[in-house]
Amino acid sequence: MKVLVIEDDKEIVDAISLAFQIRWPEAKVVSTRLGQKGVDLVETESPDIVIIDLGLPDINGFEVLRQIRRFSNVPTIILTVRSDEVDVVKGLEWGADDYITKPFRQLELLARVKSLIRRHTPSEAELLTYGPLRLDPVTGQLHVGEKEIALTVTENHILSHLMRNAGHVVTHSALAESVWGDDYPGATDSLKVHISRLREKVEGDPSKPRFILTKTGVGYFLTKPD
Ligand code: CA
Repeated sequence: MKVLVIEDDKEIVDAISLAFQIRWPEAKVVSTRLGQKGVDLVETESPDIVIIDLGLPDINGFEVLRQIRRFSNVPTIILTVRSDEVDVVKGLEWGADDYITKPFRQLELLARVKSLIRRHTPSEAELLTYGPLRLDPVTGQLHVGEKEIALTVTENHILSHLMRNAGHVVTHSALAESVWGDDYPGATDSLKVHISRLREKVEGDPSKPRFILTKTGVGYFLTKPD
């Protein structure tokens, strides 16, 4: 288990390192204060999870995410300052799997990391198929007909859940519980962002979805296009 921390605030890096040292000593923490170096380390160190601060001295956290997502679906958590909802939404849009607001408690950090790692290694290895969609939930590789698409951990989890319940409406709270193990305040908004990223990848015209449909005020359901 290797954790990469991209953060320029030494106190935060120390707090994260200490949290792992105490509560998850097998985990190795690697850190850098520079965004560009962080992107390089994702490639050379192959971390199991990456924690990214949004405000960095060279390139910002969104740019770091964008560059990582060009070649990797490693689980990512962004660090934001409390109440910065716009940053959270933007981070999720750029491919972050989850977020933690600063200041955070050790247990909260570890819980988020563990939930994300657990999701990244699904126990069932069955290939999911529905209409032209074929998804390998272990790797997050999705085929839509001939087209091959790489999903992030969270996108993979959401689509897997929708595919297992294809044709039925999955409520926001059921989907949030399945993804985060908890229906937390704001989950509906986070889901909305992940769903819109999924539509960008899956749908021919994301503004007129044919696969992932919205049941307004209730949730989402997967359907076969005619
Ligand atoms: Ca910073």
